[in-house]
Amino acid sequence: MMIYLPMLKNVVGEYLTKLVGEEGVKVIKKLPKGEVTDEKIAEMTGVDLQTVRRTLYILYENRLAVYRRERNKESGWLTYLWKVDLHDIDLVLEAEMRKLLDRLQKRLEFERENVFYVCEEGHRVLFDVAVGANFMCSTCGKVLGHQDNAELINALGKRIDEIQAVL
Ligand SMILES: [Zn+2]
Repeated sequence: MMIYLPMLKNVVGEYLTKLVGEEGVKVIKKLPKGEVTDEKIAEMTGVDLQTVRRTLYILYENRLAVYRRERNKESGWLTYLWKVDLHDIDLVLEAEMRKLLDRLQKRLEFERENVFYVCEEGHRVLFDVAVGANFMCSTCGKVLGHQDNAELINALGKRIDEIQAVL
């Protein structure tokens, strides 16, 4: 993934925004190093506690954060000490991109192997379905006409090439 470097910042930023939202990214950017409680993070970042918690759990689920529980000897209350570690983010990203690539390749195959019909409302069906319905859209009743999906196939192919180039 070293070849990513020039675009890494963008890719990581985009990925994180998709994952935790803009408020979440704000949390990540202002995070202190080392272990810290969610309340402390909320205090330091000015982001509300609920958003901070949500962000931490999403990061945790994606193996980008860890926590440790500590019991207060006097009160008996549990404190969660969080640590965000974006070290593995390139691995997470790579796995994400492989998943996306797989989805795109399956979609491309589906588009190539099938013939589509579409009505003027944009309802799209497979050829067999169109024949079975006498070329009338079962959703809106309008006429179904053949759809040329060459442009879509082209776009999918381009996107696949782009991803393969960086993987
Ligand atoms: Zn229709």
